[in-house]
Amino acid sequence: MSAPVRVRFAPSPTGYLHVGGARTALFNWLYARRTGGTFVLRIEDTDNARNSQAAVDVILSGLRWLGLDWDEGPLTGDADGPVKGAHGPYFQSRRGDVYRRRAEELKAAGHAYEKDGALFFRMTRDPVTIPDLVVGDVVRPLTDREVLDPDWVLVRSDGVPVFHFVNVVDDLEMGITHVIRGEDHLSNTAKHVALFRAFGVEPPKYAHIPLILNLDGSKMSKRDQGASVQSYVDEGYLPEAVINYLSLLGWSAKDVPELFTKEEIAPRFELADINRANARFDLKKLEHFHFEHARRLAPDRFVQAGVEALLKAGIDTSAFPPGYVSAALLTAQEKGKLLKELPTWTDFYFAADDAVVFDPEAKAKALAPVAMPVLQKLGERFAALPQFDAVSLEATLKALAIELGVKVGALVQPCRVACTGRLVGPSLYHLLEVLGREKVARRLERASTAG
Ligand code: GLU
Repeated sequence: MSAPVRVRFAPSPTGYLHVGGARTALFNWLYARRTGGTFVLRIEDTDNARNSQAAVDVILSGLRWLGLDWDEGPLTGDADGPVKGAHGPYFQSRRGDVYRRRAEELKAAGHAYEKDGALFFRMTRDPVTIPDLVVGDVVRPLTDREVLDPDWVLVRSDGVPVFHFVNVVDDLEMGITHVIRGEDHLSNTAKHVALFRAFGVEPPKYAHIPLILNLDGSKMSKRDQGASVQSYVDEGYLPEAVINYLSLLGWSAKDVPELFTKEEIAPRFELADINRANARFDLKKLEHFHFEHARRLAPDRFVQAGVEALLKAGIDTSAFPPGYVSAALLTAQEKGKLLKELPTWTDFYFAADDAVVFDPEAKAKALAPVAMPVLQKLGERFAALPQFDAVSLEATLKALAIELGVKVGALVQPCRVACTGRLVGPSLYHLLEVLGREKVARRLERASTAG
């Protein structure tokens, strides 16, 4: 039996969580779950200039939003060994002792030497083959400069250990078995492999994931649409949809359904199925996944997401009975709207009856004076209903249209605008049922008597 899988996500706190980073985290998470292994989160924050608590929080909250839970961490803020179930993450900035010890070890073994105050690694003079589970064997020839002098700095003269060094030391110390990361790191990997060997161990297995490009094939930069995980939160995408979409951005397997959750797909996740070609980010596809996931989401989860979206828009639903809030939000679920659009679809449920805001265009179109007597009549019929449910409401409205010799729309639109303020929204009969007899009566009365 091979050793239990240990993988890690090792972001540097740059101030935002890039979509490529989120996908790297996801692939690591999936592989850990698929193998029953451990998913480690390690913040690579030795570069003090860029390091700030806010930048770390962006990463942590992005991962939490996506539901990518990490498995272990140090018990205290020090360089403790792995503690399963502790809350991590590891911070490289707190592991200075580990790096000093490892630097001494390299020096003692003759793999490192001091020059001009810095510590240099005595790099192998032979080409290094990187065995990669995605890309295959990669032989990286030395550049002209490296042929002349392949040695490189481990610890700078100001005492700060460089990325390559701390990255390898931590993968070694943390017992990482598979390094799954973006292909932009492939060019670093020869250094990493050589360093592992200098420590007397074979490197972990590598799986470099192809990059995510813009739709037009250009490199995705911070400002590009969809580059930052926070933009998905702000735009109102469901994390379920983002996860589904990111899973398919560079990974595919036979007979996998189009729509899935990360828990459903984890058992199917093999590194061998990571694509070799670069992926292209397509916001339209992400929207499609949102639409489908929103419609399929468990009702209580949809309601929870909706309540949060309303609160963000300044609509506090907490004073309303929970059953009413749920029923109201669920009338919008089948539309598959982005969460940030939910307030305009459901705000009328939570407005006072005499404070429903009329969209000017809707009012001009549907609440013209000719509609007033019709609305009044409709109000009377609704009031007389023994059962105030969608089926009875629909039958009543249609019967009245026939009786008055008008099109159904001539009743539907004024009624909708009177009760919601808008021309579009959830299914009319369902929203009326949820609003309930009293609210509907008051709103029809108000609209039909307003000037
Ligand atoms: N800290 C590196 C980065 O953010 C990741 C290195 C790695 O995954 O090995 O790009």
